Amino acid sequence: MYLKRLELVGFKSFADRTEMEFVKGVTAVVGPNGSGKSNVSDSIRWVLGEQSAKSLRGAKMEDIIFAGSDKRKPLNYAEVTLTLDNSDRALDLEYSEVSITRRVYRSGESEYYINKRACRLKDIMELFMDTGLGKEAYSIIGQGKIEEILSTKAEDRRGIFEEAAGIVKYKNRKREAEKKLEE
Ligand code: ATP
Ligand code: MG
Repeated sequence: MYLKRLELVGFKSFADRTEMEFVKGVTAVVGPNGSGKSNVSDSIRWVLGEQSAKSLRGAKMEDIIFAGSDKRKPLNYAEVTLTLDNSDRALDLEYSEVSITRRVYRSGESEYYINKRACRLKDIMELFMDTGLGKEAYSIIGQGKIEEILSTKAEDRRGIFEEAAGIVKYKNRKREAEKKLEE
């Protein structure tokens, strides 16, 4: 599984539809300060389900929508589509290419899609669970993350290893089943 393509529409500084193609191997995003490099990585975390505006360097979720400039009006929604090569079926879907889309409107309304079919955030979370690519996974190592891994509480460290071992899905199902039993 690898990242093939990223499409941004109205996400932060990307007012125009912007498409980035990635090839297998090493990719570096370079550019002057303030040109939008971190916005690209924010968009990947967002489409993978990030719910915290603060961790996307904003105060509220609306801040990820293009806010306008001298020459352009603000936009009404932001949309990100991430396409992954799934030839190795690392994701449990019978498609060799999987794309996930997230859209948010100023009203706060959110939409999620897997291969253009509307779904819930939960479906996206489950799709990536134990693949190492979820929003809580170790595929994105931000500033300070290494320190966090070295210094966090034992339970948090354990969570990182559980994701790597691929057992988070089963632990979640067990938790959900237990909750149902209690009801
Ligand atoms: P550095 O090299 O300093 O880390 P960078 O390339 O990572 O810079 P980013 O932080 O990705 O830059 O981009 C910052 C720019 O994005 C700023 O100019 C900011 O105004 C713009 N920006 C952020 N959110 C929005 C938004 N909602 N609408 C329009 N522009 C935005
Ligand atoms: Mg940056």
